Amino acid sequence: MTTNYPIKLLLKDISSRADIELLQSSSDLHRFSRDFYDYSPVLKEKLSHCIAELVVRPSSVEAVLVVASACFRHSIPLTLRGSGTGNYGQCVPLKGGVVMLMNGLRQIRDFNPVTGEVTVETGCLLRDLNEELIRHGRQLRLLPSTWRSASVGGFIAGGSGGIGSVRWGFLRDPGHLTGLEIITLEKSPKILNLNGSSAEPLNHAYGTNGIISSLTLTTTPFICWHEAIVDCSNWSQAVDLMKQFTCAAIDLYLCTLLERKVVEQLPHWCGSPTDNHRILLLLAPDGIETVRRLSVAIGANFKDLGPENLQRGTGIRELSWNHTTLHMRGSDKNWTYLQMLLPQPELKMMQEIKETWGDNVLWHLEGVRQFGVQRLAALPLVRWQGMPSLNKLMNQCKEKGAIIFNPHAITVEDGGLGVVDADQVNAKSSYDPKSLLNPGKLKGCLINS
Ligand SMILES: Cc1cc2nc3c(=O)[nH]c(=O)nc-3n(C[C@H](O)[C@H](O)[C@H](O)COP(=O)(O)OP(=O)(O)OC[C@H]3O[C@@H](n4cnc5c(N)ncnc54)[C@H](O)[C@@H]3O)c2cc1C
Repeated sequence: MTTNYPIKLLLKDISSRADIELLQSSSDLHRFSRDFYDYSPVLKEKLSHCIAELVVRPSSVEAVLVVASACFRHSIPLTLRGSGTGNYGQCVPLKGGVVMLMNGLRQIRDFNPVTGEVTVETGCLLRDLNEELIRHGRQLRLLPSTWRSASVGGFIAGGSGGIGSVRWGFLRDPGHLTGLEIITLEKSPKILNLNGSSAEPLNHAYGTNGIISSLTLTTTPFICWHEAIVDCSNWSQAVDLMKQFTCAAIDLYLCTLLERKVVEQLPHWCGSPTDNHRILLLLAPDGIETVRRLSVAIGANFKDLGPENLQRGTGIRELSWNHTTLHMRGSDKNWTYLQMLLPQPELKMMQEIKETWGDNVLWHLEGVRQFGVQRLAALPLVRWQGMPSLNKLMNQCKEKGAIIFNPHAITVEDGGLGVVDADQVNAKSSYDPKSLLNPGKLKGCLINS
């Protein structure tokens, strides 16, 4: 990928700063120009040639201002990167230019003991933030299954939900993000403090409309979650039981259901081998007896695995959400996946898909709360058989009422509901007037330009 950006001029402007690390080796340029997009053969083909010409790591907000101002002056694209664990190439520099690593900003700035809100710099790892919150008797409401390595800013800008979504819905629901400090990409970049409502357009915008320097998030009281598994021989009973759990008066943090052929491929910490479908749960200790009772009532096998050990990377958390896909790909790289909200009732649709696709589609369900209502989301494993086959499957799922969040798409809109969010586009023209931030990822702005 060759471009004509004046990188040398930009280097002159920033290279004397001790608080800006420069990474220019070929291995660094490659390493920091990719994420986990290779779960999608479609994205792999489209993105593997994209590469930054310079990688910078500022370690102060002032240094971010300097980089922003220099990129604006020389009209060089700037792509932001947290930990680079995204699945859709969100932090891949489509147009080359500069990649800015945000993990030099990682301080926890403030904790409010009355409200539980926390203000934290963008590059702080979710694991570190959660650990600190636990010291205050709190914890994060939502976490991706990559919570050990992902940054808080990357989660807000690129993620959607995950562990906790069964109780707390999704990141874009009002009430999770209550404020942002951002830096604009202008001649004289500004530091702006946005309240909950003006922060919304930057929530899940892939870093296209402002550089987040810090975030204020709500939290929830700490519960020492228990891990539990429930084995069920019959798929429709398993789905029904999962729905009973998510609607019962118990505190759940995770409720995942995996088809037996998925369970077979998971690592040893998934529990003893079984030829059953398996529900994985994180639940409050006072819910254990209820879950046991509901399971036994239909002849399912319940096992309490005891309190979660957060020090190990081998928990139920690391089997859920897209970690399921990760483990399946560990045994066979031909597995890819889809993401969808299932129609109600769910069973008929899943059965019809199964009848057509057999074991080329394996069901993986997650209990979620959507607009305050308990629903089932799915991240089915899909055996890669080429683009026409994937399109056919997506169309069939849509015809049967599923809402697809396409993980094989590059733009914010195509990966979401497919519609342009005018507020996101307006925020881009205000905070990034030259359209330099992560170009190519916000479709609304491409259409308007
Ligand atoms: C195995 C696996 C499991 C996953 N499970 C989940 C899951 O359960 N839920 C989920 O939502 N995601 C999941 N993901 C995707 C990803 O791990 C998460 O969304 C994660 O939170 C991204 O954080 P990150 O720091 O790696 O962000 P990055 O990948 O570095 O960046 C994500 C986006 O945020 C932007 N960004 C980063 N920092 C800033 C900033 N300071 N200002 C503005 N924009 C910024 C980037 O430009 C990019 O567009 C999973 C991925 C994998 C590989």
